[in-house]
Amino acid sequence: MYDRALETLSGERLRDHQWRRFAAMAKEILPANAFYHDKWAPLGMTSARDLRGWDDFARLPFTRKQELVDDQAAHPPFGTNLTYPLERYVRVHQTSGTSGTPLRWLDTQASWEWWARCWGFVLRAAGVTAADRVFFPFSFGLFVGFWAGFEGSRALGALTIPGGGQDTAARLASMEALGVTVLVCTPSYALHLAEAARERGVAAAKLPVRITVHAGEPGAGIPAVRARLEEAWGARAFDHAGMTEMGAFGYACDDQAGLHVNESEFIAEVVDPATGAPARDGELVLTNLGRVGSPLIRYRTGDRVRLIDGGCGCGRTFLTLGGGILGRLDDMLIVRGVNVFPAAIESIVRRFHAIDEFQIEVFRDGHLDEVRLLVELPDAAAAPAVQEALRAGLGLRLEVVAVPPRSLPRYELKARRVVRR
Ligand SMILES: [Zn+2]
Repeated sequence: MYDRALETLSGERLRDHQWRRFAAMAKEILPANAFYHDKWAPLGMTSARDLRGWDDFARLPFTRKQELVDDQAAHPPFGTNLTYPLERYVRVHQTSGTSGTPLRWLDTQASWEWWARCWGFVLRAAGVTAADRVFFPFSFGLFVGFWAGFEGSRALGALTIPGGGQDTAARLASMEALGVTVLVCTPSYALHLAEAARERGVAAAKLPVRITVHAGEPGAGIPAVRARLEEAWGARAFDHAGMTEMGAFGYACDDQAGLHVNESEFIAEVVDPATGAPARDGELVLTNLGRVGSPLIRYRTGDRVRLIDGGCGCGRTFLTLGGGILGRLDDMLIVRGVNVFPAAIESIVRRFHAIDEFQIEVFRDGHLDEVRLLVELPDAAAAPAVQEALRAGLGLRLEVVAVPPRSLPRYELKARRVVRR
């Protein structure tokens, strides 16, 4: 059950809570889960009794996505990271496949309910209540995407509306007809919906939507994107972060300082991506505590984050990732010696209201990236102003090319705005 008191536990009590959960999970996993049994056996950890405290936890090896991909290739179709016999599992989903082979993931009845509980934290922090009508413009297929959000909304008691099997026009019509008050989708798609509404002569901000919740991209954590979303919908926009293989772990509160990590359901670490040593600014490493049938322990998420100090005005004691997920480590561009995340480019481009969509073209020159930015601008004469803002914000002179409005692709799921040529 959701318990608000968990979100305000003192540091020591939170650690105790996490350890109890982790120890109970380890007892189930060892020796039944072949993946973790084989991974930990060389360290002499073959039963939960071998894990006595946080020092032992810190000795556990990281889990990497490539290991999971290799394991599923060697043991198709589900791999060996399974704690129970197959008949215990009730759902199968997979990653979106944006970066390579999709990873399949199984859930038990209990872990599916856990997903919904985690989404309860996300939706409550955004202010969603049982009185809301929550719309999910999402194709409900194998990709886990917003499936769990749908379950979380229903568990909260809100009227939960599926928007699969519809095009954008039909979705807008559903939203109007059903009096939708909460919209849950990627930031890109929310902007696209608002743009489509405008083209049909409907102001999205005039609809009764009061809250929007976004995942799949860093967008809603970027102030310029959030401002754009809030203006377009006349609503408050909230960021959320989750992963198919990990769960729904991060959420924004009313203070909007970044993403809180749900430390009652996850153990979070930040490490130097090169050395694995603890860091304040680096790669997010997570352990989930409620997905016992298909757990992930010390998982290198590939997400770059920065911890911020001090408590949050909302009273939550959970860790805060400043600015949310700053980018994927493997998305980082190195342009003339300067490290640039696509999100940093987006944070500047989105300040220009005339630009509805943009694309980052990357050309590889030896080991160096060179970047050209395509922006949809009705007036090409405005391009130099964008270039100047990028130069001021990033310290880099990038080529900016104006392209006609609506000439670049739109996205329902994760946007692919970085195109390698
Ligand atoms: Zn907060």
